[in-house]
Parts: sequence; structure tokens; C-alpha cells
Amino acid sequence: MKIVYSARYQIDIGLHVFPTTKYRLVHARLIETGTIQPSDVVEATPASWDELALVHTPAYLARMRDGTMSDEDVAQLELPWSQEMVDGFRVMVGGTILAARAAIEQRAIVCHVGGGLHHAFPNHGEGFCPFNDVAVAVRVLQSRGIERAAIIDLDVHHGNGTAFIFESDPGVFTFSMHQQHNYPMWKPRGSLDIGLPDGTHDATFLRELERALPQVMAHRPECVFYLAGADPYEDDQLGGLRLTKEGLRARDRAVIRAVRDAGVPLVIALAGGYARRVDDTVAIHLATMEEAARAAR
Ligand SMILES: [Zn+2]
Repeated sequence: MKIVYSARYQIDIGLHVFPTTKYRLVHARLIETGTIQPSDVVEATPASWDELALVHTPAYLARMRDGTMSDEDVAQLELPWSQEMVDGFRVMVGGTILAARAAIEQRAIVCHVGGGLHHAFPNHGEGFCPFNDVAVAVRVLQSRGIERAAIIDLDVHHGNGTAFIFESDPGVFTFSMHQQHNYPMWKPRGSLDIGLPDGTHDATFLRELERALPQVMAHRPECVFYLAGADPYEDDQLGGLRLTKEGLRARDRAVIRAVRDAGVPLVIALAGGYARRVDDTVAIHLATMEEAARAAR
């Protein structure tokens, strides 16, 4: 199985709840455990500004590029502006584009040790997400003739930016299952939204997921993007669901099985993860990729 990664994802954002070390740690563990070989790793390259402009407005991109963001911009993004930050996230968008193109070409599962920046809107970044990598990748695929795509977003937070971007695009099915009473306050309507009550456990989550997946696949997507957020975990600092590591692994298996049984290319992105112990976040992401590698064999 190919995985896409860059060491540039570890970005210095100061003392922060978002551990950008997780990307390096997941990559290292994938190699250490033999889940992948070093030769399976494809180095991500930056998305071009033209590619970013398939989703984002010229005014927003100019502020990001030139470092002329307003205080409000920075407050919404919740990340300090730096050249390293902009460059690192451009590479991350490029990584999702690369993973999507590889998944389509090889009709395979491709994992991105990064991405899932679902809170970014066309005209602003939000919640640690400067650019919406999956939305940009979908637009790139559409420019290459793909007509139907689906996004399965199982991060604990609603995929607000993604839902907004594809609100009036019937070719893109957006499914988000998330904690209802959590950020973001405003949840633009996606194709299928399931807002779970606080404290939802494995069994309810998995039951809702099994009911939802056939609705997603009924869209007959030519490519599926899966945001495998680690933050529905019971010990997450920003999430209020109660999934165990075993439950999260069963979640991943269910998604991978549904997509692979339909013979559809699959791109997996990490999305969020803010467990009290970074090791837990890393272990959850690693389990996702182990399940993907097993299915790819
Ligand atoms: Zn999240």
C-alpha cells in the first residue's frame, strides 16, 4: 500500500492542543511495525496556488500568501501565521491531491499521513484548517473527468467547510457523523449529517455507521475520501464521544469494507486527534492504516 507523507507537516505552532508531531510519529510507527516499507512512501509536494484557487477565494489566498491576515482571520484559524505554517499546509494539500490521483490510477487504497482539514471555507480558514485539502483534491479530480465523489467524515467535529463548499454540487456526497453539541456551532447542511449525543459509545456509533454507509455508496462514487479523525476517542481533549480504540478500529474496518466491496478507490486522511496522551492519537491513526494495509493485500 502506498502512503503519502512529508516531514514538513511537523510545523512549529508553539504550545498548542494540536500536536503536529503526530504526523512524524505515525510515519515512524508505520515503518517500525512493518505495516509499510520505506519504498511505499511517496513524498508530498506543495499544491500550487492555482490548485488552491479551485476552492479558495483570491482575496483569502493573497492574505495567506503575503502574511496580511487580520486579527479576526488568525482568531478563526486558531493558528499563528508563519511562512512555515503556510508552506507546510500547502504541502499537505498537495499530499491529498497526490493520494487521490494515485488511488484513481491504481484503483486502490492510498493513505495520507496528513490532511482532513475539513473546517476551511473558501474565504477563511477555521479550527486549525487553513486550506480544505479534500475539497481541493475533489475539484482536481473533477477537472480530470471524475463526476461523482463521496466524503465520509468521521472526525468528532462536523465537516462544516466541506459541507458548505459542496452544498450545491450534486456530484459530491458529503457525509458527516459527529458530536452534535460541539464546535462548529454553525453546521451547514451536508448530503447526510448525523449529530450524535454527548457520550455516545461504540455500539451506537457503529450501528449508525452501518446504516449510513449504504446511503453513501448508493451515490455510486468514483472515489471516496475518508476522514478518519482520532478525536471521537473517549480520552480526547476536544471531543465528547466515548469511543474506545477497539471501537475506532471497527469503525475503520466498516468504512474500508464498504468502499472496497464496491470496488471504489479510497483515500484516507487523518483529520483531528487531541488525546491527552499523543501516543493514543498516534496509536489510533496507526490502527486505521493497519486496517487499510490489511484490506489492500
Ligand atoms: Zn476534529
